[in-house]
Amino acid sequence: MKTFCVIGLGRFGSSVVKNLIEDGHEVVAIDTDTKKIDNFKDIATHVMIADATDERVLKNIEIDKFDGVVVAIGKNMQASILTTMLVVESGAKNVVAKATTDVQVKVLTKVGAGKIIQPEKDAGERVADNLAHPDISDYLDLSADYSFVKMKVKNPKFANLTLNQANLTQDYGVNVAFINKTDGTANIGKHDTVISIGDTLYVVGIKKDIEKFSEII
Ligand code: ADP
Repeated sequence: MKTFCVIGLGRFGSSVVKNLIEDGHEVVAIDTDTKKIDNFKDIATHVMIADATDERVLKNIEIDKFDGVVVAIGKNMQASILTTMLVVESGAKNVVAKATTDVQVKVLTKVGAGKIIQPEKDAGERVADNLAHPDISDYLDLSADYSFVKMKVKNPKFANLTLNQANLTQDYGVNVAFINKTDGTANIGKHDTVISIGDTLYVVGIKKDIEKFSEII
């Protein structure tokens, strides 16, 4: 069990609090809005009506002692930036900040936020990617160029070949890291692992190569 502080109980902050609590963690929730705090007094471990841009508030709750701090103030850019700056300066670990605009992302990066989330933009990109590449069911960006993607085997051309015979790295530039087989077994991708139609592959590679491969597999 870990202890987190979530500042701002808008849609994003609320969802973060609920998920952390469901996962069994302790959460201190802060908001300037009495109504928001009232809604969360039976959900979060502790709630606080306070202005997080006030350094004393952050000092009092010992913000540097939490396992992670989420600054979920989006629309009030000034409060978002100032709070993130104070939280980072206080020595807090794992600072995640929510941004609503690209400018805010830039400033929050400069201020030192460890991770910046743009929920609407991230969700929009995911929906667009899913529409454009319906064969790719899930993905994780590993860097600007590389992705880790989940996809199903549909092409009979690959049926009953070992990964070695399929020659995916040479021919398509991708690497199968893990395979979930239709018979219920699962394993890391080895040279003698046999691929069957319907298997789920977890593939690593350059995004363009993965996109091409997802249309072939
Ligand atoms: P969302 O788009 O996720 O709903 P909002 O930006 O609308 O996010 O909500 C941010 C929340 O942060 C609001 O509930 C607001 O009352 C709260 N908030 C704004 N400024 C501060 C502050 N200085 N200290 C604490 N909470 C704040």
